[in-house]
Amino acid sequence: MTATVTDAVVPADKHEGQSQVPAPVPEFAARAAAVGGSPVRDILAVTARPEVINFAGGLPAPELFDAAGVAAAFQAVLTSTPGTALQYSTTEGEPALRAAIAARTTARGLPTDAADLLVTTGSQQALSLLATVLVEPGDTVLVESPCYLAALQAFAFAGARLVPVPCDDEGLDPAALDALVAEHRPKLLYTVPTFQNPTGRTLPGGRRAAVAEVAARRGLWIVEDDPYGELRFEGERVPWIATHPGAEDRTVLLGSFSKVMAPGLRLGWLRGPAALVRACAVAKQAADLHTPTVNQLAAARYLADRDLDAHVARVAGVYRERRDAMLAGLGEALPDGSGWVRPEGGMFVWARLPEGYDTTSLLRTVIAHDVAYVPGAPFFAGEPDRATLRMCFVTQAPDEIAEGLRRLGAGLRE
Ligand code: PMP
Repeated sequence: MTATVTDAVVPADKHEGQSQVPAPVPEFAARAAAVGGSPVRDILAVTARPEVINFAGGLPAPELFDAAGVAAAFQAVLTSTPGTALQYSTTEGEPALRAAIAARTTARGLPTDAADLLVTTGSQQALSLLATVLVEPGDTVLVESPCYLAALQAFAFAGARLVPVPCDDEGLDPAALDALVAEHRPKLLYTVPTFQNPTGRTLPGGRRAAVAEVAARRGLWIVEDDPYGELRFEGERVPWIATHPGAEDRTVLLGSFSKVMAPGLRLGWLRGPAALVRACAVAKQAADLHTPTVNQLAAARYLADRDLDAHVARVAGVYRERRDAMLAGLGEALPDGSGWVRPEGGMFVWARLPEGYDTTSLLRTVIAHDVAYVPGAPFFAGEPDRATLRMCFVTQAPDEIAEGLRRLGAGLRE
């Protein structure tokens, strides 16, 4: 908006009593315009009609939340220590929760002290804090191809230049990573090595060791994001990249209670070298002072009083049936020549339709059949593979999944 001639010649206070054209407000920061909204959230809005079978979201099954256990934990902390639970807390996090997360991390093969941890408001916040602390505008960040969408957003907000690392059905290609690090001198590599979002694939142990070796030899940070690792249905747990020689002092491991307890609690954490944890804590002071005290204390109480691992095993058992229902119906629903990888856990199946299909333009037709997926294109930092799509298999029961896939098949054949 430009100023009018009248604005230019008559001082504002001379307009008293008359209707005024207000001066335009200054523009948004360039980054606000440069970073687009999440297409997943847009699709969720379109598919809010209850008749739509929505494979597009990444929503844990709400009927499996341990609502009674979580309610009891909140009740307990609000009864026994209301003054603490409802009070401001330290930025680093409640000691009881940090100690419990440290013990769980140590039990999974990565020796961890409470002091190595920063509690975050979901692991999503850890991504923003790391982007703030590590990334200068123009810095290169290496990401998987395809990559978790909201990580692309977090790094884009910091002005990162996103460079995709080629991946196959087993995830990152370490040789390609090595070459890209040599070429671009990136600040960091962002990876979801276990049951990745969006592909569901898992990086084998040998490649994890190779990624750690590249980081040690060439010098870069690794952000290892692991919100899904506990949701394993079959096969052996693969140790974190952070446990491999060379990675110790340069890997930030992110964890979350979203997929194992409840995403509405907004509880995640970041484990890393002391100086980086400190810097992230300062960034967090500016972001939200601290993660809600009552949620932290309730989660700590839950971990003390209940058996989270037993709960997760129950959830994983149900998710496994749902994955199997989706895999069983995919062959019929997708066109001949489509491919997908069987995930050993997590929440997502990623499929590739034959050459020439464009899942973005097909989505409208498919939604008219009351079913939805997420087109693959937005998950790519580089040239998108337009024939891909992501489907979440955990939100619906097996019979609804089967019905959703029948609708999908009808939509794709139209
Ligand atoms: N990382 C990945 C790979 C995810 O898929 C998600 C959630 N969809 C998050 C981080 C953020 O999870 P939260 O903030 O709920 O912990």
